[in-house]
Amino acid sequence: MSSEVQDRRIPYRFCEDCAEEFVDYIERMQGRGDQELYWRDEAWMEVWATWINHRAALDRHFRSKSFTRLLEELKNTPSD
Ligand SMILES: [Zn+2]
Repeated sequence: MSSEVQDRRIPYRFCEDCAEEFVDYIERMQGRGDQELYWRDEAWMEVWATWINHRAALDRHFRSKSFTRLLEELKNTPSD
């Protein structure tokens, strides 16, 4: 899938398939979602929960003082 979906409910850039899954994950977190999609079980929920945690950790890292410092140092390092 190459087309991208942008939806106010979705704080990430996804392809259509992933956007659909993400929205469904949020629905299921709130006790909704289509129960006929039996493969979206606890293990599937765990995949999304860990992915979201991973993305949040990346965001914290990129906004951290140490990462900002690294970028500054790289900017001030003459390249060959
Ligand atoms: Zn995707």
